[in-house]
Amino acid sequence: MKYCRFETEHGARYGRVEHSGGGEQIVELISFQGESVRVPARGEAFTPKALSAVKLLAPVEPSKIVCVGRNYREHASELGNEVPKEPLIFLKPPSTIIAPGAAIEMPPAEITGRVDYEAELGVIIGKRCRRVKANEDVWQYVRGFTCVNDVTARDLQKKDGQWTRAKGFDTFCPVGPVVVTTDEFDFKNAEVTCYLNGEQKQHGRTTEFIFSLEEVIRYISAVMTLEPGDLISTGTPAGVGPMKSGDKVEVRVSGIGSLVNSVRA
Ligand code: MG
Repeated sequence: MKYCRFETEHGARYGRVEHSGGGEQIVELISFQGESVRVPARGEAFTPKALSAVKLLAPVEPSKIVCVGRNYREHASELGNEVPKEPLIFLKPPSTIIAPGAAIEMPPAEITGRVDYEAELGVIIGKRCRRVKANEDVWQYVRGFTCVNDVTARDLQKKDGQWTRAKGFDTFCPVGPVVVTTDEFDFKNAEVTCYLNGEQKQHGRTTEFIFSLEEVIRYISAVMTLEPGDLISTGTPAGVGPMKSGDKVEVRVSGIGSLVNSVRA
């Protein structure tokens, strides 16, 4: 199943998306009750709408965003870092999240002089998990996949030694446009690409991961309880670079879609 979250006259709703006729349509409302997905959602009439005709919202409402640093070999070396021996994880606050089409806001120039794009595959947790065992199937805990831009103030990442400011400004986590559920997504061989003003800047495949998604989810769950809706961003391929006000940045993941955001001062 493919789904999105979008604005209606009654507030934010989740909708199931289907390809029909000339494009993609939201065919019915769905809802999440903790770990279970309700299709269709209870109690509200809905007329199918073209996906292009609605205002899309970020398709996740996580209690936390856990990111993996340096999970593609070439990206680790382009920044002069060693390939890590175990997953390197850090957090972004949920206040970083913005919708597809929304603007990434550049912090004031006196705080940071370099803000980079990082195209990534996002994993959405569907079922609470803690300390997932080596012999346990991690996929039972995963709801689906989406596109993420792990926007980073590169100069602050170096200056601060830890990454809270570099990764944590408001608007530094565009997510979407849709989620594709685990049963319909080939996570083992997905392509992750970034375009800046239409020019390809990054390209990688999930086959190049240093740590598999299974390892990453087990590793994180050994530290913290993962809740339904939590977002894991799985690292970026080589080719990171700066953005400036007026740019248009696009993160594309094969089988999911295209997450486009503008940049403004
Ligand atoms: Mg990243």
